[in-house]
Amino acid sequence: MTIFERIITGELSCHRLHEDEETFAFLDNGPIVEGHALLIPRTPAATLDELSPEAGARLGSVLPRLARALKEATGCGGMNVLLNSGAEAGQEVPHLHFHLIPRRAGDGDHG
Ligand code: 5GP
Repeated sequence: MTIFERIITGELSCHRLHEDEETFAFLDNGPIVEGHALLIPRTPAATLDELSPEAGARLGSVLPRLARALKEATGCGGMNVLLNSGAEAGQEVPHLHFHLIPRRAGDGDHG
């Protein structure tokens, strides 16, 4: 069982943002920026190619709603949405997840 399945069952705590019969969203506990959220299917699929079309459609329908809620909560101007599919692509937790990363002007500037 992955860490994310243990979060869905409530065995591990999280800051929950959204849930329905098929999807679950919560704050990343190692956020790149404030409000960094993760959206996952309840039924585990490790990578994008393993996801059913139905689960993909459901996740797709939740993404805009979650983006609106995050924008309202954080006051961000923009958002990066990304998905690392497979260890070779940087995926660490083998339960498919979208990252929603709120962005503000200048937050990527260094030096
Ligand atoms: P990946 O590298 O697989 O695309 O991203 C995994 C993400 O899950 C990372 O951003 C990491 O901070 C987050 N993460 C890992 N373990 C936990 C956890 O136990 N709770 C929460 N909320 N996030 C986690």
